[in-house]
Parts: sequence; structure tokens; C-alpha cells
Amino acid sequence: MAVPKRKSSKSRQGMRRSHHSAHVRDICVCSNCQSSKLPHRICPHCGYYKNKEVIAMEVE
Ligand SMILES: [Zn+2]
Repeated sequence: MAVPKRKSSKSRQGMRRSHHSAHVRDICVCSNCQSSKLPHRICPHCGYYKNKEVIAMEVE
């Protein structure tokens, strides 16, 4: 296994870890039922994606 030649400085370590923070999940609005959903996902409320019904929901 490859082994690092030098100890990484606290500065380098900080630069690497600058991308580690958690961020707030993006939320978008369903074009069919106006409820909040995750982008690029089928709406969990009405089962629509891109204004077409993809999954038939049992209870509406
Ligand atoms: Zn919807």
C-alpha cells in the first residue's frame, strides 16, 4: 500500500477537510401537487415526475 512521504501540515489538513461539512438538502416544489420534494426524484405525494404520472398512488 502506498504510504505518504511527509506528514501533511495542519494547513493542508484543513484544506482537505474544508469539503467535509454537511450541507442542507436541496428541496424543490412538485409541479403537480405543489408539495416539497427532492429534485430529480418522483414526488412521494402524488407519484408524478415531469408532469406525468410515473407511479400510481394507492391513497390520494
Ligand atoms: Zn406531487
